[in-house]
Amino acid sequence: MNKINTIAFDADDTLWHTEQLFQNVQMRLYELMSAYASKREVEAHFHDMEMKNVRLFGYGVKGFTLSMIESAIEISNRTVSATDIHEIVMLGKSILDSPLDIFPGVESALQNLQPDFRLFLITKGDVLDQRNKIEKSNLEPYFEKTIVVQEKNVETYRQVFDEHGIEPTQVLMVGNSLKSDVLPVLALGGHAVHIPYHVTAHFEKIEETVDHNKFYHLDAISDFAGLLRSL
Ligand SMILES: [Mg+2]
Repeated sequence: MNKINTIAFDADDTLWHTEQLFQNVQMRLYELMSAYASKREVEAHFHDMEMKNVRLFGYGVKGFTLSMIESAIEISNRTVSATDIHEIVMLGKSILDSPLDIFPGVESALQNLQPDFRLFLITKGDVLDQRNKIEKSNLEPYFEKTIVVQEKNVETYRQVFDEHGIEPTQVLMVGNSLKSDVLPVLALGGHAVHIPYHVTAHFEKIEETVDHNKFYHLDAISDFAGLLRSL
């Protein structure tokens, strides 16, 4: 029996490309730092820095840029040039300025679902950046509500569901992150669809595999209608 009446979508790397932009910028950081350390060392240093700083800055481009700067200063033993720091800042800003690249099939999937389901968008990160992307997407009218949170865990989902009178067992959450989009919603008794993106941010990676009777896997959002028919 299909009891699902609410479908919630993640945004970054679920509705549009995001992580590839961050990875491209990181590659340039490794090049800039190649005079001081190997790619592997710079990468490890930067990842540790991001993990440490995410507690202070949250997720998003601003924290990412500050972490690149802090890493560059430490890796170069405080000798990195102002020219290189300036390039790092510009690289960060280039992510904020990038055109939004929406995945094929997103709009038609939302169009098809809207008459039959309550649709929500739940994304995490920097509020201004996320709001700008939602606006650029022109997808807002499909959603009952678009919500930006700082972290996606059981508590935040519980709060969002409570606030909007959503029964967790009637929710289907769709996203590219097992850690942020799938596991917390399954823990609350909801359903979850994983649509992997070809790259995953290091802080979203988990070791475990998910085996659950309310867990589904799709290769692309364009296959969504088929999945719903099979539920
Ligand atoms: Mg995502």
